[in-house]
Amino acid sequence: MRVLKFGGSSVASAENIEKVYAIVKDKSEEGKLAVVVSALGGVTDKLIAAGKAAAEGNESYKDILAELEERHLAEVRKLIPIANQSAVLSQVKKLLNNLESTCEGVFLIGELSKKTLDRIMSNGELLSSYIISERMKVDGLNVSLKDSRELIKSDSSFGKAVVDFETSNLRIWQYFNQATNVTILPGFVASNDIGETTTLGRGGSDYTAAIIAGALNAETLEIWTDVSGMMTADPRVVSQAYPIQKISYGEAFELSHFGAKVIYPPTIQPVLEKKIPVWVKNTFAPNDIGTLIQENGNGSDVMVKGISSINKIALLSLEGSGMVGVPGFSKRLFEALAQESVNVILITQSSSEHSICVAINEADVIKAKTAIDSEFAYEISVKKVDPLSIERELSIVALIGDKMKNHAGVSGKMFSALGRNGVNIRAIAQGSSEKNISTVINEKDVKKALNVLHEEFFETPTKQLNLFIAGVGNVGGKLLEQLQKQQQFLNEELGLNVRVVGLANSKKMAFNEEGFDLSNWKAELDKGEAMQLAAFAKHAKAKNMRNSVFVDNSASEEVAKIYSEFLRGNISVVTCNKIAAASEYENYRKLKLEARAHNVSFLFETNVGAGLPIIGTLNDMVRSGDRVRKIEAVLSGSLNFIFNNFKTGVSFEEIVRQAQTEGYTEPDPRIDLTGTDVKRKILILIRESGVAMEMNDIASEPFMPADCLDGTVDNFFLKLKEHKLVFDDIYKEAAAKGEKLKFVATYDNGKASVGLKSVAPDHPLYKLDGKDNIVLFTTDRYPDQPLIVKGAGAGAEVTASGIFADIIKTVL
Ligand code: ADP
Ligand code: ASP
Ligand code: MG
Repeated sequence: MRVLKFGGSSVASAENIEKVYAIVKDKSEEGKLAVVVSALGGVTDKLIAAGKAAAEGNESYKDILAELEERHLAEVRKLIPIANQSAVLSQVKKLLNNLESTCEGVFLIGELSKKTLDRIMSNGELLSSYIISERMKVDGLNVSLKDSRELIKSDSSFGKAVVDFETSNLRIWQYFNQATNVTILPGFVASNDIGETTTLGRGGSDYTAAIIAGALNAETLEIWTDVSGMMTADPRVVSQAYPIQKISYGEAFELSHFGAKVIYPPTIQPVLEKKIPVWVKNTFAPNDIGTLIQENGNGSDVMVKGISSINKIALLSLEGSGMVGVPGFSKRLFEALAQESVNVILITQSSSEHSICVAINEADVIKAKTAIDSEFAYEISVKKVDPLSIERELSIVALIGDKMKNHAGVSGKMFSALGRNGVNIRAIAQGSSEKNISTVINEKDVKKALNVLHEEFFETPTKQLNLFIAGVGNVGGKLLEQLQKQQQFLNEELGLNVRVVGLANSKKMAFNEEGFDLSNWKAELDKGEAMQLAAFAKHAKAKNMRNSVFVDNSASEEVAKIYSEFLRGNISVVTCNKIAAASEYENYRKLKLEARAHNVSFLFETNVGAGLPIIGTLNDMVRSGDRVRKIEAVLSGSLNFIFNNFKTGVSFEEIVRQAQTEGYTEPDPRIDLTGTDVKRKILILIRESGVAMEMNDIASEPFMPADCLDGTVDNFFLKLKEHKLVFDDIYKEAAAKGEKLKFVATYDNGKASVGLKSVAPDHPLYKLDGKDNIVLFTTDRYPDQPLIVKGAGAGAEVTASGIFADIIKTVL
């Protein structure tokens, strides 16, 4: 004898019922079957809605009933040949009329008792089992329909009745002793000793099937549903979840108890006693292996089998000095809760006994608080116990696995993965069986937590990186191009799944939780909403995705001001924008500390020398204990261009104008020529060397007459012309010594300056072409010959690659 159960989605439509028929027909050839069916998918919810509407005096219940009628009749018309239809239609109508009368009664009285609700809900399974049994008969299968209410007897706890196994087992056994080849039974429903309809709790059809399997000592119980087994996590939340091939009864129970809806938790008990193997199979992919639930899991060394979660949890904490060493406190607490039928899902008590924490369903909070406050009224009044503290909007996330027991380090791995992703843990419980480690976290973090843990325990070794990118111009555009080209390599070689999930320019912003198709990002951004920086940040934080990075490709002060928002939201910041790192020292320091406090990165390698590894090299030296004594650097491509081309026969004014037209300088070339940009860069290097310094502390030696700095850009060019001789002299003086002019930034034992210098041919700064940058670090470990980094220090391509490298660093 085998017992099969088909869930709501498996029987949701005529098309699906045909699939069920095919499976049943196939299996019936090998022996007797009991086939338990749920209501057509979604019907139980509708029945509850109808009952509630009727009780509230809302006539809309009639619309719901009409819709249910329409749906069931339509299925009959599709499943049953016309010749046999009328008898079936009239029986279905009879059941529906019955339902309508019950609802009418509820409407008139304006009251819906649990007992009446059970009667209403039972119609879902009564209808489906009848229709399915009629469909099975069509092709001559030897099928009968048996009302489970006649077999399964329960007490009168309507809504979630307690089964009387002794009576039920006997009745089931007697019936099946003489049953036909295939028996169809409605799931979920039972009856009390006076024959009133009860139900077994939402999702209870699984239980019905298990009760029957247990009573008959069945060969197997097969739970046919819409996924290919019990999965490592809820597939609706964790897209990477996959079916578990073998799992123990204990593990399956824990997984379902902590939220894996695929099996109703009480289901395990009747089959466990008789050691009946349970298969979870997919009606829509019957050839997929599915999950086998049996006594000893699979004997492998897999420690964590699955992860599950329950939402809408509240945490109650009872605290007080009066509890220490006094026996009986917990007993009173649990008794008070039990009396109000409050289900306790998780318990923790600190070893000091100073507090007890219990997690319950949020819906029970008021009942629980009243019960506990009244139980401990005296202790509270004499201040031996504090009034109950309540936290809501929480969730429990649990790791399940029999083998966790003998392995150290699982919880450490769990907590560090959650911690790295900014998931705050409110309470922890590890059952003494060590089959399960549960943590209570904020509900808003659940999706992230499940995915992070899944990645940590099941997905060796892919890591997902989620990028929110602001600025898609020169640099940003190149970055997106490089990301697209490199995506496959990163996946295969580094196990990194880099996705762009947010994009913005100054006008538009767009989001795509699954990651933009990078060959088509422009069109997607065009379709986006109006850009608002605060909304962009808010959205990124609200998405609460693991390994999130905000990438700033702009030069905007407004954008730089919002980094702190991201860092505090556990989002790393990678930027080529110098403004933040060169702002007041206090702000720079604050951002660094915020990054550290939230376990994220704040990286800005491209602030100095574009893609050149300058800051990274400096960081490595400082972190390993080296000390920077001196820095000499040429850090401005624009100034290099100008001074490399300034020679006899060319006026300074002409060369600056050319640099401006060719885009080597800012539109106002004075920003380059006064060295402001270079100052920012050397300031950042000094700070990264571990020295607190401000922009004003850096001396700058102007080489232009003061009046060049006044007025408009046009006026500036006029002044350059006017002062032609001054510039010619500067050039001549250097040339006479065989030297070259370079705009140099220097830091030397606590003092910093920027300015134009004449450099001799044997100096490392002398040979520097085009827009190259160079930095010389003289340190305790490089005292005589400085460590030199040199190369192209500007350009969209190299800047983008520097940003790219920083992005990868946030997770490696
Ligand atoms: P049925 O109607 O067949 O009883 P349910 O909707 O009750 O089906 O349960 C199946 C659903 O449970 C799946 O579609 C899936 O979305 C959800 N689910 C949650 N957690 C898990 C898990 N760990 N493994 C498989 N399914 C899960
Ligand atoms: N139809 C019932 C419910 O939706 C029982 C079940 O499907 O298992 O809860
Ligand atoms: Mg179910």
